[in-house]
Amino acid sequence: MNVYGDRGNIIALDRRCRWRGIDLHVTSVGRGDRFPPDADLLFFGGGQDREQAAIADDFVQHKGAAVREFVETDGVALAVCGGFQLLGASYTTVDGQELPGAGVFDARTEPGRERWIGNVVVETDHFGTPRTLVGFENHSGRTLLSSGCAPLGRVIVGKGNNGTDGTEGAVYRSAFGCYLHGSLLPKNPWFADELLGLALRRRYGPDARLEPLDDSLEERAHASVRTRAQRLHKRRSGAW
Ligand code: GLN
Repeated sequence: MNVYGDRGNIIALDRRCRWRGIDLHVTSVGRGDRFPPDADLLFFGGGQDREQAAIADDFVQHKGAAVREFVETDGVALAVCGGFQLLGASYTTVDGQELPGAGVFDARTEPGRERWIGNVVVETDHFGTPRTLVGFENHSGRTLLSSGCAPLGRVIVGKGNNGTDGTEGAVYRSAFGCYLHGSLLPKNPWFADELLGLALRRRYGPDARLEPLDDSLEERAHASVRTRAQRLHKRRSGAW
């Protein structure tokens, strides 16, 4: 699936590999296809309820076990919004249709009355040092995490998983789910490199390294979204 430029995440991964002389081979996985057994990284974009309903059964039946096995062996996964929801246990659409999920994340998603749309700023210390992620959310689903996975971060601006517990996204082993479209990785280059680093070390061992890149433009994009989102948030919450 692909909404709000989610496939831009693949372009970002591809460029960041190419700039370092690393070949990235991209295989699209559609209905009826199997999950490629030699994959290093799984990307799953977002979609509307209609698209999620069109793929959910096929995804769970034909790819679910392979994707779970991939994640259990530290395969790296990034899933955004509708893709994140389908990596949980289940997603119930606004119309009340319960779609199965692959069960990678110990989470389920229920429908909400209101659709949340806007920029999001998230803080995470999952990777050792405190970092921020910026993105754009557009979902009515409310995701509730259970004890088998951890949140990716805390929402500073935006609604995140469910608008009540302050969490955004989920992490299980090297699988990451989140509500951040936009695309996510071009504006959060450090996160792209965390994913690539995990995938490289899984394949080539703990000494595999990524050469640093000049991320000044990407960091300016990140800072610009962050500042704009925080300003708007302050104005709306009356503290401006
Ligand atoms: N259909 C889902 C929801 O509204 C996911 C939407 C998306 O991926 N943007 O919650």
